[in-house]
Amino acid sequence: DMRSNHIARRIMPVENFPQPGIRFRDITPALQDPRALRNSIDLFAERYENAGLTQIVAIEARGFIFSAALADRLGIGLTLIRKPGKLPRDVFSTSYMLEYGDDVLELHKDALKARDKVIIMDDMLATGGTMGAAVELVRKTPATIYETAFVCELLYLNGRKALDKIGVNSYAICA
Ligand code: 5GP
Repeated sequence: DMRSNHIARRIMPVENFPQPGIRFRDITPALQDPRALRNSIDLFAERYENAGLTQIVAIEARGFIFSAALADRLGIGLTLIRKPGKLPRDVFSTSYMLEYGDDVLELHKDALKARDKVIIMDDMLATGGTMGAAVELVRKTPATIYETAFVCELLYLNGRKALDKIGVNSYAICA
């Protein structure tokens, strides 16, 4: 799709960030380009408009951007998964491994109900560790996960494998 190519061309590789040996993909140019931003929301909206979703579950922080625009476009709600200590009421917590140490994600315990059918969104799929933790959180609720969704995917890290039984949808492939 020409629109996916347009988005992918605006995701810029940055060497040695946030530490030596890491190639970071910077999505800020894709956000700044009005056509790339619109294209990303159009592509998601076309895929999900008849899926019967009730909520978009969004991962802090860059996942919030695309999720908020998509939820508004689809006329459904936005459910936030946040870093620890940010959500004010009772939460489910899941810790997951990073390259160095670990991190925690949280979701309000009462955020999702049995009638909810959701996608979980983030900007980028790398190893799949972050999304795996988000899936674990949503599975503590009675909601149904339709699939996971990303703007961009780093194919060589094989994050899809970490999410094997759950669908993965992404538009831009980063080599
Ligand atoms: P994973 O858990 O799949 O290894 O890493 C994905 C998570 O880390 C996502 O929340 C994503 O925002 C962030 N992330 C990891 N690498 C990159 C990158 O190169 N660019 C961007 N924009 N985010 C990244």
